[in-house]
Amino acid sequence: MALIYCRECGKQISDQALSCPHCGCTLARPAEVDPNKSDKDWLTCVLLSFFLGGLGIHSFYVGKNTVGVVQLITLGGCGIWALIDFIMIVCGSYRDADGKLITHK
Ligand SMILES: [Zn+2]
Repeated sequence: MALIYCRECGKQISDQALSCPHCGCTLARPAEVDPNKSDKDWLTCVLLSFFLGGLGIHSFYVGKNTVGVVQLITLGGCGIWALIDFIMIVCGSYRDADGKLITHK
């Protein structure tokens, strides 16, 4: 157990405390989730790109609608683009529309 300082009143409190016993403020915990990580489901992405990658469905799924439309028209860049996307998704280096990585959790 470590001691931290309350950001409201500045008194020492336990880092296990959910609220400050001195001023009663709620202590915000650092988010467990990585802000660079997409909330899109990795497995869904893998399956969509494997079965429907040629139609750009995985791009629509992650919010990249413009890319999805282009892939739909070009049939996934004649399959090459879809294949590259599929490999990137499997490797966990594919990003969604917000630039966040889609990785399996
Ligand atoms: Zn306090």
